[in-house]
Amino acid sequence: MSAHVQSLDEFFSMLVEEQRDIRIALAHLERSGKPVALDQNAQGRVSRIDAISQQHMAKAGGTRLTIQLERIKAALERYSAGRYGICCRCELEIDHGRLMADPAAPFCMECTEELAEAKQHDMRRDTGR
Ligand SMILES: [Zn+2]
Repeated sequence: MSAHVQSLDEFFSMLVEEQRDIRIALAHLERSGKPVALDQNAQGRVSRIDAISQQHMAKAGGTRLTIQLERIKAALERYSAGRYGICCRCELEIDHGRLMADPAAPFCMECTEELAEAKQHDMRRDTGR
């Protein structure tokens, strides 16, 4: 029995399922974001601020979801190209445990860490310190 080893097909279904869930969530966000803007003038200042912060939260959530949707789309494209589960940077196989946690992961653990470090360096340079 090798039940603990996930096959690529299972990752594919996980991605398709997550993609569907995110699309539903985004549709909900779009609907809940709009009516708030319409009652802006009818309400007092406090509720207007509430409405604005709610919109910001919906927007932030929406951005996160949109990014995740892009990651999933890219992963599904890699799947149909026969490159799913292969690191986009070093081209080595990505650990299955890592894919279980994040089926849309484009990089292996090592590359992710190296990229995160490089990003931190860039940020330090940007602040000029
Ligand atoms: Zn890699």
